Amino acid sequence: MAEAAADAGRAPNLRLFFALWPDAATRAGLHARARALHSECGGRAMRRDTIHLTLAFLGETPVRQVERLRAVAAGVQGEGFALDLDRVGSWHRNRILWTGPSMVPPALAALAQDLEGRLRADGCALEARAFSPHVTLVRNAHAAPREAQLAPLRWTVGSFVLVASELSAAGAHYRTIGRWPLKRRG
Ligand code: ATP
Ligand code: MG
Repeated sequence: MAEAAADAGRAPNLRLFFALWPDAATRAGLHARARALHSECGGRAMRRDTIHLTLAFLGETPVRQVERLRAVAAGVQGEGFALDLDRVGSWHRNRILWTGPSMVPPALAALAQDLEGRLRADGCALEARAFSPHVTLVRNAHAAPREAQLAPLRWTVGSFVLVASELSAAGAHYRTIGRWPLKRRG
């Protein structure tokens, strides 16, 4: 017990999640969409450099487990894909506005499933809720968007990342601590 406590003291936790991180052009398009939703619905637009799509949320994790998570991620067999973000919606419960695809590419569903299965097999306690791919664009919105369907914003996905979420005075900051390529199609 005393040993475990001492170990915990030496090994602080990181708040971790696996995600898809947009390239600069996609990030700019998503940020423009966030600003448009913000002017329509109020709230707080996500900063350009924080926009992402969560694949698997791990939460508070001892730092010493990061190397194992890297090994798990390296085993993932995924293919790159195009993601057409053509929907926007809101969750009233937490006043979030998001954008997502009306059709989930099979390669994205397979990636999330493979990653989740490997994480569970490695002992990670993940939430039971089904994977629902979305990109949060606005928080604390005052209203829902008028239009649910938008012209698709195409995101070409070629890798996934492991990210540490760190709180600072300026708000949430995300630090990428690993990136793994997906196989090129064709
Ligand atoms: P903050 O909570 O400080 O406002 P945030 O929600 O962006 O900022 P985190 O709470 O660290 O940051 O979450 C990181 C990512 O994981 C976000 O995309 C968030 O939506 C997602 N996430 C957080 N909690 C869960 C959860 N319990 N299940 C699934 N995804 C989650
Ligand atoms: Mg949060």
